[in-house]
Amino acid sequence: MPFLTFQNPDGSLGEYAFSDAQPLLLSLHEQGDAQLGGGAGKPQAVITRARVYQVPVVVNLNQAAPVRVNGRRVVTLRALRQGSRLQIGNLELTFWEVTLQRVAAGSPLLGKRCSVCRLNFSISDEVVVCPRCGIPYHKECWFEQEFCPTPGCLYPIRSTLKRLLAARGIVVEQLAANSPLVVQQVRCMAGTPGIDAQPFQAGQHVVYCPNRQCNTAFHLECWVSMGNCPACSKYDVSQLLRSIFMPNTPPYFGEEGAERAEEAQG
Ligand SMILES: [Zn+2]
Ligand SMILES: [Zn+2]
Ligand SMILES: [Zn+2]
Ligand SMILES: [Zn+2]
Repeated sequence: MPFLTFQNPDGSLGEYAFSDAQPLLLSLHEQGDAQLGGGAGKPQAVITRARVYQVPVVVNLNQAAPVRVNGRRVVTLRALRQGSRLQIGNLELTFWEVTLQRVAAGSPLLGKRCSVCRLNFSISDEVVVCPRCGIPYHKECWFEQEFCPTPGCLYPIRSTLKRLLAARGIVVEQLAANSPLVVQQVRCMAGTPGIDAQPFQAGQHVVYCPNRQCNTAFHLECWVSMGNCPACSKYDVSQLLRSIFMPNTPPYFGEEGAERAEEAQG
């Protein structure tokens, strides 16, 4: 779930979100103006995910004009992390990504609490750190929101989640008043108290189990908190979310290690 932020000419902060499914092309015009997502300019660099460990990387396609990450020139490719500063032509971008992490012993998250449910984080909880404000939330608490709940942050959680699920063929539907689920007064099978006592209602967001034989409807917020689908017990939702938000980074691949691995590669 990566995105880039940049300063608009009027000083406001711009944001360019892109999907993991499609590498992002950065091109450069004659005058040195850089452009996101291709266009008429000369292709200069591409942001994609390395096949190994799924690390996001920027690849320099044209040695003539330099691409820099955190001030250092990129010869072939360089890994990107939270807050990496990317410079290409006269464009300065900052890289951000929403990731899911599991709280381990010794984690700095222990002793802090989630401001949605007001419970402390504990070992083996799955946590999302908002890429815009840096505040941690439980996975379930985060994905049930439309926007980041930190005052003033408003990171668009639901639209980003919808885009990432759509890239995997999973459609989130906002129920209309004449939707069959509403008309037939179907109830969500997830059984979350308070939400599911009532049948599905117009305006709610619904996901259908991607297992074609199942296709059972759930509230989006119920679905993202699930392990195996309770209707078919075949589709593992938590595994899907981990595959999207928890890039498979090996434990020894720290900040320093990553830099060294790139230099060895390049
Ligand atoms: Zn919480
Ligand atoms: Zn936030
Ligand atoms: Zn539900
Ligand atoms: Zn199912």
